Amino acid sequence: MSVTRYIDTVLERIQDATPGQTEFYQAAEEVLRSLAPLLQAEPKYDKYNIIDRIVVPERTIIFRVVWVDDAGVYRTNIGYRVQFNSAIGPYKGGLRFHPSVNLGIIKFLGFEQIFKNSLTGLNIGGGKGGSNFDPKGKSDNEIMKFCQAFMSELYKHIGETKDIPAGDIGVGARELGYMFGQYKRLTGNFEGVLTGKGLNWGGSLVRKEATGFGSVYFAEEMLNKNGESLKGKVCTVSGAGNVAIYTIQKLYSMEALPVTCSDSRGMVYDKNGIDLDTLKLIKEIQRESLSEYVRVHPNARYIPCHQYKKECNGVWSIPCDAAFPSATQNEMNLEDVQTLYANGCRLICEGANMPTTMEAMDFIIAHKEILYGPAKAANAGGVATSQLEMSQNASMQSWSFAEVDSKLHCIMRSIFNTSYATSQEFGEEGNLVMGANIAGFRKVADAMIDQGA
Ligand code: GLU
Repeated sequence: MSVTRYIDTVLERIQDATPGQTEFYQAAEEVLRSLAPLLQAEPKYDKYNIIDRIVVPERTIIFRVVWVDDAGVYRTNIGYRVQFNSAIGPYKGGLRFHPSVNLGIIKFLGFEQIFKNSLTGLNIGGGKGGSNFDPKGKSDNEIMKFCQAFMSELYKHIGETKDIPAGDIGVGARELGYMFGQYKRLTGNFEGVLTGKGLNWGGSLVRKEATGFGSVYFAEEMLNKNGESLKGKVCTVSGAGNVAIYTIQKLYSMEALPVTCSDSRGMVYDKNGIDLDTLKLIKEIQRESLSEYVRVHPNARYIPCHQYKKECNGVWSIPCDAAFPSATQNEMNLEDVQTLYANGCRLICEGANMPTTMEAMDFIIAHKEILYGPAKAANAGGVATSQLEMSQNASMQSWSFAEVDSKLHCIMRSIFNTSYATSQEFGEEGNLVMGANIAGFRKVADAMIDQGA
C-alpha cells in the first residue's frame, strides 16, 4: 500500500472510531499528512505500526465534578485528563476550563502536545485535561470550590514523575493554587505536581511570560534567517490572556509595534500601540472586558464581535506586517489569511494551539513568502519553561529571571533550527509545518519502537 493510501486509511479509521471529534481529526490530519516523506524514507515506522498507535491515547480519564455554588445549588461539570503518550517522559500538558471543552478538544490539544513537547528537546510526554466549567462570572469562592472538586478526582491519576498538569485557557495561577492546595491536602505531599505555580510556593520565574516571549523569539528567528528583524514592524495580536499579553510585552522590547488585542466579546485597535499597563490592569487585576480600554484611551477603537465581518476575526482585518494569533483554535480562517496577505502581512506566528483552519494553513504554506511559525514549534516556550520549573523543583533550586529567560531563548532557537533543518532534509526548505511535525514525531516514534509493544 502506498504511504498516502496508508495515511488515508488511518484517518478513515479515526473518523469511524471517534465520530464528532472534529478538532482532534483536524490535528491528526495535519500531522499525519505532513509525515508522508518520512514514512516513505523510513519503513520501520510502518513495520511497527506507529501511526496507528500514536493516534490513540494511552489512557483517557473522564470524571464527574460536583461543586456547590454561592446560592447553595449543586452543580455538575465533566472533567477530563487525556494521558496521550509517555514514550519520552511523564505526561505533561495544561488544563483548560472553558464551556467549549469536550473530549475532541482535549484530545486535539493532547495530540499536539506530544510533538510540541518532543520538539523542546526535553524529556516530557504529552497530555492535556480540563473541564467544560465556565469561569466567567463565577465568584472567587466558586472558582475555589470547583478547583477543589476537580482535584479531588484528578489527584489519583497525577504525580511529579507521572503526569504534571499546568494552566491553559481559564486556568492561571489562582486556579493552580486552589488545585495545588487540594492535592497537598489529599496526598500530604508538597511536590512539583503542577507547573505555573505561584513564585513563593515552587513556581518558576518567566513561566507566566514564557509562551508569549517564546513565540516572539521564534518569530525573530524566522525573520533573522531572512536577513530581517521585528524592529519597526506593525504587529496584530489576538487574545488578552497570558500568551497575548506577554507577546505584546516582548514585541515592544524588540521595538515592534503591537496594535491589537481581543477577548471573547470584542477587540481593541490602538494604532499608537497597545498600552501594556492598561491591558494588564484590565485583564490580570480587574478581570474585566476589553471595552474598558477605551475609557482610558479614548483615541483607540473598541470593536465588538458582532461588528466583525461574518465568520471572520476582526483582528485580522487590521493591516500589519506580522500577525500573532494568540487566542484559541480555528480563530483564523481562509478569508482572514487572504485579507492579511492582501494587506501586506508576511509573517504569522502561532501563540495559540491550532489557531488556523486547515484551509488557512494550506493557503499559508502555498505562499512561501509568508514566514509561518506553526503552533507546535512557536508556542512551545510555555511547556519548555514548565519543564524548567520541574527541574528547579526536583533539585530544590530557584534560578534567576535572566537564567530562565536565557534557557528559554536557547530552546526556542533550537526548536527553530531543528524544524528548519528537518524541512531541508525532506526537500521542502522553510516549510516549518513539515519540519516541526517530522522532527517532533521522529523522536517519539523511535522511543516507542525502543520500548516495544
Ligand atoms: N497549556 C500550555 C500549552 O499549550 C502549557 C502546558 C504546560 O506548561 O504543561 O503548551
